[in-house]
Amino acid sequence: MRPSGDNTGLLVCSPLRLEARAVRRGIGGAAEVRATGYGQSRSGRQAAALRGESFGMLAVAGTGGGLTDDLTPGDLVVGTEVSDGSTTTRCPVAPLLAGELRRAGLPARTGRVVTVDRLVHGSERGRLAAGGALVADLESAPLAAAAAGRPVAVIRAVSDTPRRPLLRPGALAGGLAALRSLRAAAPALENWSAAAGPRRVLLAGPRSFCAGVERAIEIVEKVLERQGPPVYVRKQIVHNTHVVADLERRGAVFVDELSEVPDGACVVFSAHGVSPSVRAETDRRGLRSVDATCPLVSKVHAEARRFAADGYLVALIGHAGHEEVEGTLGEAPESMALVETAEDVARLRPADPVKVAYLMQTTLAVDEAADISDALRERFPAARAPGSDDICYATTNRQQAVRAVAAESGLVLVAGSANSSNSVRLVETAHRAGAPAYLIDGPSDIQLSWLRGVPTIGLTAGASAPPAVVEDIIAALSGLGPVEVSERVITTENIRFSLPKEVRSS
Ligand code: SF4
Repeated sequence: MRPSGDNTGLLVCSPLRLEARAVRRGIGGAAEVRATGYGQSRSGRQAAALRGESFGMLAVAGTGGGLTDDLTPGDLVVGTEVSDGSTTTRCPVAPLLAGELRRAGLPARTGRVVTVDRLVHGSERGRLAAGGALVADLESAPLAAAAAGRPVAVIRAVSDTPRRPLLRPGALAGGLAALRSLRAAAPALENWSAAAGPRRVLLAGPRSFCAGVERAIEIVEKVLERQGPPVYVRKQIVHNTHVVADLERRGAVFVDELSEVPDGACVVFSAHGVSPSVRAETDRRGLRSVDATCPLVSKVHAEARRFAADGYLVALIGHAGHEEVEGTLGEAPESMALVETAEDVARLRPADPVKVAYLMQTTLAVDEAADISDALRERFPAARAPGSDDICYATTNRQQAVRAVAAESGLVLVAGSANSSNSVRLVETAHRAGAPAYLIDGPSDIQLSWLRGVPTIGLTAGASAPPAVVEDIIAALSGLGPVEVSERVITTENIRFSLPKEVRSS
């Protein structure tokens, strides 16, 4: 129970006694759970009374009518906003709560909640769904509005759906499934309450898209514009799920191998580059190709060819299995060796110890790569280095920037996908700078337990993560309390790469 006079705690409004009991059982004593009564007029009266009360955050938790065919009784809908047509309350914490519920194994989605004045039947569900709502209820909108700027959440457990309506056989089972889900969802509200509070977010600058990623995305967009879908892209154009999903929606088809590209089609090579054998296969098949390889990756390929042609053993410092590494090694497979650690250096067997050169994957951690290149130079003092740094400007800048915010933060969040090398390196860099750090694809990956007792969060994004994801994360954090955003800019970037001739405007 919320202690009387507690103006910071969580108040949960559950319209029906049965709903309130289910939530109470799941949430323990971490919140006051109040049965606020069935229907719009009762919830309106409760909302008016709540305006005079002191509480820190407010949740509405109950059952509701699903509006779309893909919902099943027991599914949980976490409201992104709740509206009764005249009042709309936004609930920015929705993705955080939905992520928490899904990690607990519960079927949770985010979506719009509508509050109506009577139970919905038949075609009315379709009409509300067409307006973008996922679930309908009779109480949420006035109650949520009573939060009056304080953190607010709405969770509705689906009791009936278009296929399994009320007043039909099975309705009781649907109601019971909803109550079970409501009880199981309650601990997430407790976690939300424990993580709540005002926060500072320190943005690392620069962050997010680099010039090579912007160019690669623009190339796919231009090819889509010119020839229409489908446009085949070998491998993910850049390592980010949002970018890939967005381009897929617009007609890009991502394939792992050229064998999946139909004869006569056009294929785009990803920003990470390809080995000469892929280009040869493209020619042999008579496929048209557009190369989105980042010019800074192409530079490393050119260095590999040059050193190999001059008779050097080329040690490539990088991570096994990464597409960029596979492409670069493919330039001179018989003259190159992958070096992942300083220990690997001891295993190199050059024909001539004086003819050793080294190159680097563009997205390595600068400090780790330096340890390995030091080991190489120690064993082979005459080792030739790349003409200019292989670790690219974008990687270097983002690592310096994350180090700067990590020094001031209790936690660092890095927006990026799990297969993004430069994003993973940012997490490692923040760790080494002394801050706990996590890689997240988006706000729903944030675990509320990470945020407990952390007033300052450092936030950055890998070079392949869209800037919009950073905005989404900040918006979601605002569902835990006021957020003050400031930026630590270590440098500004104004690099742009020209497009390949195939997509350049004439
Ligand atoms: S991270 Fe660096 S190498 Fe990779 S695409 Fe961006 S600029 Fe190019």
